[in-house]
Amino acid sequence: MNLILFGPPAAGKGTQAKRLVESRGMIQLSTGDILRAAIASGSDLGCKVEGIMARGDLVTDEIVIGLIAERLPEVEKTGGAIFDGFPRTVAQARALDDMLRSRGGQIDLVIRLKVDDEALKARVAGRFAESGRADDNPKAFEQRLVAYNRDTAPLLPYYEAQNKLVNVDGMAAMDAVTEAIEGALGKFGR
Ligand code: AMP
Repeated sequence: MNLILFGPPAAGKGTQAKRLVESRGMIQLSTGDILRAAIASGSDLGCKVEGIMARGDLVTDEIVIGLIAERLPEVEKTGGAIFDGFPRTVAQARALDDMLRSRGGQIDLVIRLKVDDEALKARVAGRFAESGRADDNPKAFEQRLVAYNRDTAPLLPYYEAQNKLVNVDGMAAMDAVTEAIEGALGKFGR
């Protein structure tokens, strides 16, 4: 099955994705992780996206769609993936649907971790210093929230119209969030 973990920055998508990797043997596809690895390796792609990411802006649809396209054969072999931080725009969502459909697959479920902006800001405020991420500072975080609300939140009606959206309270304790996600996945039996 293919699952999207959806939500604003710092909602806990990465943490929950890693738990699903452990409990269900699914693979996690995080465009943020792939891009940070490109920066760390000093590749052309890394140089291209470094400034954009540090500001908290979105990199182009073309780049991230290409990164995901490269990984789809691997996704098929493992029987599906957890998409974490992708798609982030309607164009990315359409491209993902098209790519999966052309390979006989689909997105089965979109789990939205619901956390409001003020709670997110409070959650990250104390953690900037220790994060080690160039975009974990008040200014870039604010911009990441702007990008989420402007470009990514419009995906909610997109997936709602496909009857794929499940809302989970992302403000609950981490274990309770995991339990709610496992409950939503239950019917897929993996
Ligand atoms: P994340 O680790 O998911 O919070 O992503 C960190 C940063 O990587 C984002 O703020 C964007 O600059 C970039 N990024 C990651 N995924 C995408 C995406 N699907 N579309 C555009 N930019 C992305």
